[in-house]
Amino acid sequence: MSVTVVGSIAFDAVKTPFGARERMLGGAAVHFALAASFFDEVRVVGPVGDDFGEPELAVLRARVVQTDDIEHVAGGRTFFWRGEYGWDLNDRETLDTQLNVFADFAPKLSPASRDCDILFLANIQPDLQRQVRAQCERARFVALDSMNLWIEIARDSLMSAIAEVDCLMLNDAELRQLTEEPNLVRAARRIREWGPRVVVAKQGEYGAAMITEDGFFALPAYPLETVIDPTGAGDSFAGGFVGFLAAHPDEPLDHELLCRAMAYGTALASYNVEEFGTERVARLRPDEIAGRVAELARITSFVTKPVALRR
Ligand code: AMP
Repeated sequence: MSVTVVGSIAFDAVKTPFGARERMLGGAAVHFALAASFFDEVRVVGPVGDDFGEPELAVLRARVVQTDDIEHVAGGRTFFWRGEYGWDLNDRETLDTQLNVFADFAPKLSPASRDCDILFLANIQPDLQRQVRAQCERARFVALDSMNLWIEIARDSLMSAIAEVDCLMLNDAELRQLTEEPNLVRAARRIREWGPRVVVAKQGEYGAAMITEDGFFALPAYPLETVIDPTGAGDSFAGGFVGFLAAHPDEPLDHELLCRAMAYGTALASYNVEEFGTERVARLRPDEIAGRVAELARITSFVTKPVALRR
């Protein structure tokens, strides 16, 4: 079984109240791939420029991520994003987005990438997501992430892309923006009418909620004392969530399995935010993931006993 991901492969410049990096490896597909690599074979599809070299590829290869479908565009520059966070780490400002090699990208997947079991359409221009979706006919589960930029400038394309997937993962503010529906449960119902049977609302430091045909499930974020840089948390969440599903091909892809996947997404996201960019997840160990999932199970369960309530 294998997972294919298309999305940004980037250099990020990030400032948070706790420090800054002028140029670090990032991109939605990179954060996703590192997280998902703990569960299954992952193939990354996307272009990079001359400025993307061995040190960046080495981070992916150290986690045995397949990089054969990373296309080097001679003379091009890699996607670049600059963002800044204030004290509320749920609220970030994008200061610069340079599509660079993504502007003329026409994805051509290798047979191995096309043959994936699970496909993740990470955040990128929705027409590119659709082109990749069309090439992966065999995938048994396709999830899609996006962002406010594409809701604003490519809404129709994004709606078409959403109609072709099984699962939509968005920040809750973006879900409201997309559906023009202030209530999350109703927004999710609307999305499910468009096609996806699973909707995941990412809620930053408050965790994530999921709506399927069988109902609602939510987990808080793992309680951390130190958060340094939330960049890529959503993609690491997706990597844990989707990766877990890929690693369980013989189990029905139902509400119960999806709930378990939510715990792995939450654990991966929690490690991502502890340091800048990919720094923490790049040296994460499987036992650390298992430890946080067990701890999450403990802190989210409680005992109910009958209680006499007053009229
Ligand atoms: P997240 O924090 O999970 O939303 O993802 C952060 C990553 O998204 C960063 O590493 C950026 O390189 C990437 N990113 C930011 N803006 C865009 C965009 N417009 N399209 C694709 N990727 C983006």
